[in-house]
This record gives sequence, structure tokens and C-alpha cells, in this order.
Amino acid sequence: MLEVPFEGGCQCGAVRYRCKAPPFVSYTCHCLACQCLTSSAFATCIQVPAEAFSLLRGTPSSRDRTADSGNQITTSFCGSCCSALCSANSARPRLRSVYVGTLDRAAEVEVDAHIWTKRRLPWVLLPDGHRVFLEAGDWRPDYAADPSRLEQ
Ligand SMILES: [Zn+2]
Ligand SMILES: [Zn+2]
Repeated sequence: MLEVPFEGGCQCGAVRYRCKAPPFVSYTCHCLACQCLTSSAFATCIQVPAEAFSLLRGTPSSRDRTADSGNQITTSFCGSCCSALCSANSARPRLRSVYVGTLDRAAEVEVDAHIWTKRRLPWVLLPDGHRVFLEAGDWRPDYAADPSRLEQ
């Protein structure tokens, strides 16, 4: 269980952030964009209310891309060490997706959902009992604990 507030930052320490609300969903995304973004097999994210997320130090750089859905995804990363910190989705401006690898206490995040598993690399094994979505989980009740929080 991730206690609030929680903090995190980039690899070099130039950018630090704090979040004062608990994540309402956590998931591992196996999509190709996340594989490229992390230079690895997947990205694990938590979604938090944008208003609960604030920078403590530094100013991240950002990059926009257009997702398959047509939404604009803006990813914030450290301009010095290039760690990706969080993303914002144009369709859900009140949310931030924070990359769990940048959290100080990442081990406290409980992850039990996997999205875009049709892109999962074959040697990444999913634990029994985790929820699995072939594409985006979207905002289905079985994916997000409280979908009404996701609507704007
Ligand atoms: Zn950095
Ligand atoms: Zn992804």
C-alpha cells in the first residue's frame, strides 16, 4: 500500500515531484510506445489526480505524440538524464500517469492489471489472478476502482 504523500524523481535528481493523493489505478502497459519509452519490455504506471501532483524541483522537458486513439500524449522527462516521469492525456486532462520506476517507494505500489497485452513480449510472464486487457483498459469498472473520477 502506497502511503501518501509520496515522492519521486528522475535518475540524476534534477527533477523531483510529490503526489498527495493515492493512485486510483495502477497497471503495467505492454504497448510498443511504452516499450520504446522505457527502452525495456513494459512501463508500469499509476494514475493520480493532476491537482494532487506537483513538482518540487526542476522543470521537466516534454514531448507530444499522437496515440492510436488520436489523443495527444504529453510525456514529461528530465532534460538532463532523460528519465520519463509522467504523462498527460489530452482526453483526460485531470489525470497524470506517473511512471512507477521513478517513485522513491515503488515497491509499495500494488499492480494487478496489465494493458495492451497483445503487444506483450513472449518472455514477460503475467502472474495468475492479474486482470489482463488485450488493448487499453479504458475506463471500465473492472479496470479502475472508481471510474467516475476519470470522466473529465
Ligand atoms: Zn534527471
Ligand atoms: Zn503503453
